[in-house]
Amino acid sequence: MRVNIDDYRGVWVFMEQKEGQLLDVGLELLAAGQDLARKLEVDVCGVLLGDGVKPLTNQIFEAGADKVYVIDDPILKFYRTETYMKAVGDLVRKYKPEIFLYGATSNGKDLASAVATDVLCGLTADTTLMDVNVEKRLFEASRPAFGGNIMATILCKKHRPQMATVRPKVIKRLPPEPGRTGEVVEEVITLKEEDLKTKVLEIVKSSKKAVNLEEADIIVAAGKGVKDAKGFAMVAELAEAMNATLGASRDVVEAGLCGHERQVGQTGATVTPKVYVAVGISGAIQHLVGMQNAELIVAINSDREAPIFQAAHYGIEADAFTVVPMLTEAFRKELSREPAGEETEETEGVTSRG
Ligand SMILES: Cc1cc2nc3c(=O)[nH]c(=O)nc-3n(C[C@H](O)[C@H](O)[C@H](O)COP(=O)(O)OP(=O)(O)OC[C@H]3O[C@@H](n4cnc5c(N)ncnc54)[C@H](O)[C@@H]3O)c2cc1C
Repeated sequence: MRVNIDDYRGVWVFMEQKEGQLLDVGLELLAAGQDLARKLEVDVCGVLLGDGVKPLTNQIFEAGADKVYVIDDPILKFYRTETYMKAVGDLVRKYKPEIFLYGATSNGKDLASAVATDVLCGLTADTTLMDVNVEKRLFEASRPAFGGNIMATILCKKHRPQMATVRPKVIKRLPPEPGRTGEVVEEVITLKEEDLKTKVLEIVKSSKKAVNLEEADIIVAAGKGVKDAKGFAMVAELAEAMNATLGASRDVVEAGLCGHERQVGQTGATVTPKVYVAVGISGAIQHLVGMQNAELIVAINSDREAPIFQAAHYGIEADAFTVVPMLTEAFRKELSREPAGEETEETEGVTSRG
């Protein structure tokens, strides 16, 4: 079904929340949304669904939204595809945004694809770069393609809205502007609990300690160069000594040395820590896309020609089995030392002398 694309205006961001807390990814996407909206001379708007969520609108305005569409209803307390798709689909049909961004979280990806089938538009998944052709009002959503060897820019010329999911941490949040405000548009959902096929009976929280690479400030990641479980344990010790989160390349995950939740890269997590230490990782493009925005990258690799050295700020050309235990020892000593009261500065467990 063709739509009149000139009827569609404005940039929307889905503001995902969990138990009344906004997820960072929505706040990050407001920065990208604001940039696109300013170029197109339209508003950037948040879309907020949930139960008792209206007070979150202030935080959304402070993060850059001009307008927030809110549906606050007990039926939206927990994420369900059926209810969220209906609520968002109805908003899209009524207000006609031209661009709509979602965080590439489990729920964000589920919702975006459901809305795309409901309102009959396209969807670019896992976008890493965004721009807009202002003259044609075409959203340019770029993402790695063909195993990460090229960046593909995907256009949606004939349907609206132009939708994309974007991974957490790909976009830098704007600094919040306290007191910034905007327009709240309240809407209602027409569904009733008894009309629904899915019922939430119980929420069971996992007791397993979650690995949160996306939020980590320091990551020490192991690659195939560590060879086996013993080598992996050696890197895990360094991570522990640095108070870091342990990450891995895909080859290490596929070798069964750790779970997929530790994988960094195109098909793993996208991370932006302050420090990323890559041990025995070659630096394949599919790994680099997941960590190249780290503030400081340190690579340890025995091969001078390894591509990881191109991305690294500091490179240690050495055998990991020699250098990693030395670093572990040094960090253990340094971090167990009492602060000397002179020029010692603590940053998330790493001590640097200034
Ligand atoms: C569609 C697709 C998606 C992918 N997604 C991901 C992804 O999300 N994440 C990811 O990581 N990969 C991903 N890959 C795989 C990627 O292409 C690489 O194969 C992988 O990243 C290589 O892992 P590695 O660097 O650990 O191993 P290798 O490439 O084998 O590198 C090992 C490195 O260790 C060094 N080394 C060896 N011995 C030592 C030593 N003793 N001391 C120090 N250094 C040593 C070597 O010089 C080498 O540079 C994907 C591939 C495809 C096709």
